[in-house]
Parts: sequence; C-alpha cells; structure tokens
Amino acid sequence: MPRAFVTGITGQDGQHLAEFLHGRGYDVYGMVKGQNNPKATLLQEEMPFVELVPGDLADLPSLVAALQIAQPDEVYNLGAISFVALSFSQAELTANITGLGVLRMLEAIRMVGGSDNNPIRFYQASSSEMFGKVRETPQTERTPFHPRSPYGCAKVFGHDIVVNYRESYGLHASSGILFNHEGPRRGMEFVTRKVTNAAARIKLGLQHELVMGNLDSKRDWGYAGDYVKAMWMMLQQDEPDDYVVATGKTHSIEDLVERAFAEVGIDNWQDYVRQDPKFYRPAEVDLLIGDPTKAKEKLGWEPEVEFPELVKMMVDHDLKREARRANIEL
Ligand code: GDP
Repeated sequence: MPRAFVTGITGQDGQHLAEFLHGRGYDVYGMVKGQNNPKATLLQEEMPFVELVPGDLADLPSLVAALQIAQPDEVYNLGAISFVALSFSQAELTANITGLGVLRMLEAIRMVGGSDNNPIRFYQASSSEMFGKVRETPQTERTPFHPRSPYGCAKVFGHDIVVNYRESYGLHASSGILFNHEGPRRGMEFVTRKVTNAAARIKLGLQHELVMGNLDSKRDWGYAGDYVKAMWMMLQQDEPDDYVVATGKTHSIEDLVERAFAEVGIDNWQDYVRQDPKFYRPAEVDLLIGDPTKAKEKLGWEPEVEFPELVKMMVDHDLKREARRANIEL
C-alpha cells in the first residue's frame, strides 16, 4: 500500500485529500499539532482510518520524527496560517509557519529521504494569492508574483524554495498554484462560507443581517474536492513541476452574495447586507482568474463543479445544518 503524509490534515483540503487517498488504497498519516487538539479529535471521529502523528511546522526535529514514523511515499504540505486577514495581524507567525514551514518540511524530507529507488515525493500548496496585484490576466505558471498580504509573501517564499530545492537537490517536489477552492468544509471565516451560512440562517430566521467588507473583488472559485485530485495527479508524474489549478472563470463577491440569497429564495439581498470597514483589508487582491491549460494538458485534470453548483452545494449544506441545530423542520 502506498503511504501518504499530510500536514494540515484537519483543514478543508486535508480532509478532502485524506478521503481521496484512502479511496485509492493509501495508508494516510496526518500531522496534528498541539496538546489535546480538538480538531484532531473531530477528525478521528469522522475519519478513523487516518493515522495521526504529532508534529509542528515550526519545529524541524518534530517533522523528522513524524516522517520517520509515517515512512511516506508522498508528502502533501497543506498546513499553514491560511487566512489572509489574520496574516496582517500575525505577520511574523504567518512567515514562520506558511513560509519557513515549507523549508523545514523540505529539510526533513532531505534527512529522511525515503529509499534510494523510491524517494519521497513532495507537494506544496502554493496559492493564487501570490499573484496579488496581478501583472496579467488570466494568471498562468509564468505570471510574475506581486503578493498583497503577509500570507501571499509567505506563500511566495514557500513556492520559490520548492523550486530551489528541486533544482539544487533533485527532489521530486511540485507546487500547485491553487486558486480559491471552497465547499461545505470551508471555515466560516472565509467569504464563501460566511455568505452561504448567513443566507441559510437569514432564511431560517436565525440571523437578520450580514456584515461584509469589500464586495467588488473578484475570485476564481472552484470546488475543493476537485482540487485535491490535481494535487495527487502532480505527484504521479515522472517529472516534478508547477501547475495552476483554477476554473478559468471569475465572479465578484457581490455575485456570490446575490446567488447565495437567490438559492434560498431571497431576491432583495441588499436589504440584509451592510458593509463595515473592519472587514476591509489593508491591501486588496482585486481580481483573480487562473488559466488551467497546463494542468488540463499535462495532468488531464478538469474541474467538475461550476460556481452556481458550488454555491448551491454550500447553501443546501448550511440550510440543513442550521435547521438541525435549531430544531427547525425544513
Ligand atoms: P482570500 O482570497 O484567500 O482572501 O479568501 P477570502 O474568502 O477570505 O476572501 C475573498 C475576498 O472577499 C477578499 O477580497 C475579501 O476582501 C472579500 N471579502 C469581503 N467581505 C468579506 C468578509 O466579510 N470576510 C472575508 N473573509 N472576505 C471578505
């Protein structure tokens, strides 16, 4: 059985990837940090097949020890401080975990290595936030980076150090430049889930307004379940490389709000939405739209869920969940 080691296993992508790899017959090892981590307990209940291993991206010896336990064929580095807004208030922590964490993981792989004829393959979760103030549209693997947040800056370092270790030491290390990807497992702090959850709660009479930041920025939103498949496909290639993973379509935050409210039968969304500067960011990423041609041609990857279906999936999930919690019959 192939063995995979995943950091960020308790996050949205970690869960989707764990399910995907398990379905393909992998032994899945997931790294969890901290003492008595509540997310680890929840994950273990939902996915008992995942073997949890202690470790922290801030602590190189712990990464070496975790790899020695897992003895993986493939390592997926999905762990990070991943929320752009938080990265502005905890910039140093973000640089340490989201940026230097990649370097530590690469060093741990160099130390543990895997067998000579079966070296460990590495996937890095790079991000469309690296494009930031975009230099061209749509963005490809060759578009220059111009990050607009400490998160984006840390991801650029992570991306560059993967390329450098690949070129310097011949590691089979690939990066997926993933555009925003969402689903019912997305954290409530991210805009899609915040909006779909609010639309559901407003419909059920559990909430009366939705307070938002900038409604004008545009994102290329896909479904997380589709995107983890691309990660795996990258590690099955003979040669490591970098790939944009995106849908090639973009929508504004306002489009998202309008569609989520329409899904629950509310057309006058403006009556429920208020804007507050506290949700604005010190520097904004105005427009993201990716060109996934290379992933399509080289990996044979295609996104399957389109934006309208994605919003519907999330709203339906949130309606059921909120109704259940409030004992409301739908
Ligand atoms: P990001 O692309 O990684 O920053 O993903 P997010 O889901 O956090 O945010 C996407 C966009 O939504 C950004 O341009 C935010 O400025 C915008 N936005 C507007 N209002 C909100 C809000 O209330 N919460 C969040 N998270 N984002 C918001």
